[in-house]
Amino acid sequence: MRAAILSVGTELLFGQTVNTNAVYLSRKLNALGIDVMYHHTVGDNPDRLAEMIETSFRDCDLVITTGGLGPTQDDMTKETVCRIMGDHLVMHDDILRSIKNRMLSYKRVMTDNNIKQAEMPSGCRIFYNDSGTAPGFALDREREEGSGKKQWIACMPGPPGEMTGMFEKSVQPWLEELAKGCLYYREVKSFGIGESDLETILLPLIDGQTDPTIATYAKNGETMIRIASKRDTREEAMEAVAGMLERVEELCGQYIYSYDGEDYAQVVGKMLMERGLSISSAESCTGGMFAAALTDVPGISAVFDRGLVTYSNRAKTEELGVSHDTLSKYGAVSRETALEMAEGVRRVSGSDIGISVTGIAGPGGGTPEKPVGLVYIGFVYGEKRECREIRRMLNDRVRNRRNAMLSMFDVIYRNV
Ligand code: AMP
Ligand code: MG
Repeated sequence: MRAAILSVGTELLFGQTVNTNAVYLSRKLNALGIDVMYHHTVGDNPDRLAEMIETSFRDCDLVITTGGLGPTQDDMTKETVCRIMGDHLVMHDDILRSIKNRMLSYKRVMTDNNIKQAEMPSGCRIFYNDSGTAPGFALDREREEGSGKKQWIACMPGPPGEMTGMFEKSVQPWLEELAKGCLYYREVKSFGIGESDLETILLPLIDGQTDPTIATYAKNGETMIRIASKRDTREEAMEAVAGMLERVEELCGQYIYSYDGEDYAQVVGKMLMERGLSISSAESCTGGMFAAALTDVPGISAVFDRGLVTYSNRAKTEELGVSHDTLSKYGAVSRETALEMAEGVRRVSGSDIGISVTGIAGPGGGTPEKPVGLVYIGFVYGEKRECREIRRMLNDRVRNRRNAMLSMFDVIYRNV
């Protein structure tokens, strides 16, 4: 099935609103195995909207619009779509009632233009709106008379909160039916191996693949493996993906940490909560990125005691008790300092686990012995004292810091 996404709203053309709806819908449609062929954006103008719908229908079976369903004069998506699809608007009493109730609960008076929102195409399927007054709808028509082939248009309101709610609740199930053949995929995340190495390992599976397909790609310092299958039913596709995932795990399971898109902080956070292990961190080169990522995890206060940012030598000494000797003998970026930092934060917090990071993020500050990208991660837990050394050839501050932060989660994941 081929689709076009049509965003309606003059504010989008002015650059006042970022078109997040198109991005959201593209992801969702692709996940359903629907090929998105076009993104079109038009202002609040019925003629240009009509033209864009017709243009899209030339080689698409499905058009999805967002915007222009509101109660005001410039909202004319409904009328325009009706005209093109050969339908007309009729009053829907149940929608009118629900708009009235909503207005009452907001203590607002119903206006004439609100009443207009209860008019819907006579032959449409209605998508109710749980978070606003404008319902969405879908209509179909025959591609050519007597061809038996259909074309569909689905219209949703513009406000992203209303649109996504409506999509998930009503439009997606409708599309799943429509798109029949079902695409199912899993996105497995790995860390500690580059994309090219991973692809080489997986080559026996990637070579000659038809279904399921496997693709590797790098994103924000992690390497993802996407396993996708398109079958007649979701169950068949899931089974095919599960079978392939087993073979992927045989080849590179040791690098995998997440199976359904969860990020490293979530995986580690949940693991610590399940095990009831408390943790505190001391960060230098990442400046709190670890603590920020960990505190994204809901409920983490049960185990996360504190995250200190100890950037200067003085802070490392005052807050963590790193010795002057260690700092002058080995330097702030060293195995010894990292371990004393981890021990220090465990001592002051009384946490089960102390984790630390110190490194040279760049672009300046590197020397031949201690180049940019050199990072040490200290880890203490019970009797365990671990230090991971990372040497990356990257002169990229953002990526070095992000990799250091992810490595902290990796060290915990591998050692707890
Ligand atoms: P409408 O349904 O046209 O009345 O849209 C109402 C509001 O939704 C607009 O003022 C925008 O703030 C927002 N909106 C409309 N279209 C989009 C879009 N494609 N992406 C993000 N926000 C949008
Ligand atoms: Mg609008």
